Amino acid sequence: MRSTGIKKLVLLGAGHAHVHVLAQLAQNRPADLDVTVVSPYPYQTYSGMTPGLVAGHYIAEDCQIPLEPLVKAAGAKWIQARCSGIDATEQRVRLSPSARSQTPDDILPPDIPYHLLSIDTGAVVDRDRLELDMPGASTHALIVRPIEVFATLWPSALELARSKPVSMAVIGAGAAGIELVFAAEQALRTQGISGARFTLITGGDGVAANYRPGVRRRVLRQLKRRSITVLRDTCVGIAPGMVKLGSGAELACDLPLLAIGTHAPPWLQDSGLTLSEAGHVLVNAFQQSPSHPNVFAAGDVSTREDHPHPKSGVYAVRAGPALATNLLAHHEGQALKPHRPPTHTLNLLSCGTGHAIVSYGLWHTEGAWAWRWKDRIDRAFVAKHMRSAA
Ligand SMILES: Cc1cc2nc3c(=O)[nH]c(=O)nc-3n(C[C@H](O)[C@H](O)[C@H](O)COP(=O)(O)OP(=O)(O)OC[C@H]3O[C@@H](n4cnc5c(N)ncnc54)[C@H](O)[C@@H]3O)c2cc1C
Repeated sequence: MRSTGIKKLVLLGAGHAHVHVLAQLAQNRPADLDVTVVSPYPYQTYSGMTPGLVAGHYIAEDCQIPLEPLVKAAGAKWIQARCSGIDATEQRVRLSPSARSQTPDDILPPDIPYHLLSIDTGAVVDRDRLELDMPGASTHALIVRPIEVFATLWPSALELARSKPVSMAVIGAGAAGIELVFAAEQALRTQGISGARFTLITGGDGVAANYRPGVRRRVLRQLKRRSITVLRDTCVGIAPGMVKLGSGAELACDLPLLAIGTHAPPWLQDSGLTLSEAGHVLVNAFQQSPSHPNVFAAGDVSTREDHPHPKSGVYAVRAGPALATNLLAHHEGQALKPHRPPTHTLNLLSCGTGHAIVSYGLWHTEGAWAWRWKDRIDRAFVAKHMRSAA
């Protein structure tokens, strides 16, 4: 790249950590730093509020941080596109139009150069890999990622449920699947839609496998209270009106909703960056690539080499300030600061009826107050980034 004295910082994705980076740049953007954000949607959806959207607690706008004001305040440019490849040697990012892009294909550059790159594009469900594990899933299931697409498709699921008594199966019994099955049950019940049946298909690990036994017992009690069937079986395929199970059984199902574990983005795999075994961007204590010091990453797309931790929004949010500090420090040629991810995080599992289960380390409890707490935290995150854009 020809040097003009101006350095190009490209932010891929507007995930939890990057909204903080943008807010930080709005306070203090060096004059010689040209910032471009590449993101497919004009807003960042706060995923923690998606089950609340399904349940009917929120409307879409409650869960969205508009990007344009954030980008403007940071003195940055926004390219509405998705990254479809990185060449870390040539320092270029390949772009593809986003499905809803307003940028005509002919003026979207095929790739853009960078001096400094930061990646916060979140988790993906790789449709090709999904089809290998679960034939038919990418055609017949409502998939929770991308979350922006899921949010726009959920109303059509509700319409179907209004037209006939449906059988809904949520596939995946981690935090997202659990919250979504509770939320869907609440949505139909509060809208007076009767006759629906709900099943949670857990896969091999069972319900809430990443939680402590006490939390698991609380989740199971709430599922029973709401007459949600738990199937300890694995989904191995989906056909119209039916979920095929590993045991050989078939479950009649009008609405299969997929909330399984996610994959690393396929477009990272030939980037030249050092990746984790699962294919995520490997980063060190500075959220920096060990192979390419001018590349940083945070959130679900990355894995800490020194301190692997679960992939969740809380960790992505916590990495934001360190990422912002280190991007600016790298640009200024100053020493980077290590980021220590928290050992324990506050987990709030919404049960959809204005009730939540809360856990932190060994401690866990539940109640309506816990849901109000989660609601306050989630709304505050969105509001904070709306305000910082003003
Ligand atoms: C239903 C549900 C509920 C959840 N609830 C919680 C919760 O309560 N608490 C919690 O801690 N975690 C929760 N999670 C997990 C949480 O969603 C993720 O861990 C979190 O979103 C990760 O944040 P991130 O910054 O890595 O990416 P994201 O928040 O996913 O943001 C990624 C951004 O990158 C953009 N992007 C995607 N692909 C590209 C591309 N190719 N090029 C450019 N931009 C791209 C996206 O549009 C988006 O703006 C939940 C997940 C789900 C599915």
